[in-house]
Amino acid sequence: MVHGETKRILVVEDEQDVAGLLQARLEANGYEVHVEACGRAALAEARELRPDLVILDLMLPDMDGYTVSAELRAMYRAWTLPILMLTARDKLRDKLRGYCAGADAYLTKPYDAGELLGAVARLLHHEV
Ligand code: CA
Repeated sequence: MVHGETKRILVVEDEQDVAGLLQARLEANGYEVHVEACGRAALAEARELRPDLVILDLMLPDMDGYTVSAELRAMYRAWTLPILMLTARDKLRDKLRGYCAGADAYLTKPYDAGELLGAVARLLHHEV
């Protein structure tokens, strides 16, 4: 990994196959990946882990991704944590709502792996 520091990514995704593929792709690119399958667990993990980036699904079993995003923003009290929303919802209003809830990037499923990795790298670069 660049600069010798491994970046931690929290993936919040309840579909196991999607989460598994994301994890494999990100780990292959040198990232440390943690996966949570629901909003509550993700918020608890974010508090512990202090990830460098969150990849967030919108439709989770216990709460929606907009709420998770807003709570992450409240937790960090600043816009320093990049949030990438990754969702099947491809309507413009969903996307705008995502940005209003604090998303820095919004990709729709099925996603292109190159585009996703590019977005992750760009968001992490802004962090440094
Ligand atoms: Ca989902």
